[in-house]
Amino acid sequence: TDLAALLAAKIRDVPDYPKPGVVFKDIAPLLGDAEAFAALVDHLAARSRELGATKIVGLEARGFILAAPAAYAAGAGFVPVRKEGKLPGELHRQAYELEYGSAVIEVQTDAFAPGERVLVVDDVLATGGTVEAALELIQRCGAEVAGVEVMMELGFLGGRARLAPLLGDAPLETV
Ligand code: IMP
Repeated sequence: TDLAALLAAKIRDVPDYPKPGVVFKDIAPLLGDAEAFAALVDHLAARSRELGATKIVGLEARGFILAAPAAYAAGAGFVPVRKEGKLPGELHRQAYELEYGSAVIEVQTDAFAPGERVLVVDDVLATGGTVEAALELIQRCGAEVAGVEVMMELGFLGGRARLAPLLGDAPLETV
């Protein structure tokens, strides 16, 4: 699509970051480009409305940057899913595997009303471990996953297949 081409032109490949052998997808040039950033946020907001989402979840930290303005533009609420130890109060926790070791993400237990429809936004889908953990948290809150929007999918890592069982009929879309 035109949007995908506009965005792709503004994403920078950084070799050997954060460690040798990894090619990091740097979205800073995109965020700094007023036209590309607005087009991306408008697209996310439009999909949120089409999917009937009343909350948009952003995954710390780059997901926050996209999800918060999209929620504002869509007339939806914003919910942060954060790394361990950053949120106060009663939380649901979910551990997931990283390449080396594991991590935990958390959400506040009262972040959603029962049955509320939720769109999940992040920048990059790699192994799918992060989004998988977020979907489990949303479902544990009694909310419904309306869809997942990512800017980029590293297809060779198999994230899409990993998420299929949790997604059911909800779409996983690359912008
Ligand atoms: P996953 O859990 O393996 O799917 O990794 C996805 C998470 O890692 C997302 O929150 C991304 O922000 C981050 N991530 C993985 N690879 C990249 C990359 O190349 N650029 C930016 N973020 C990345």
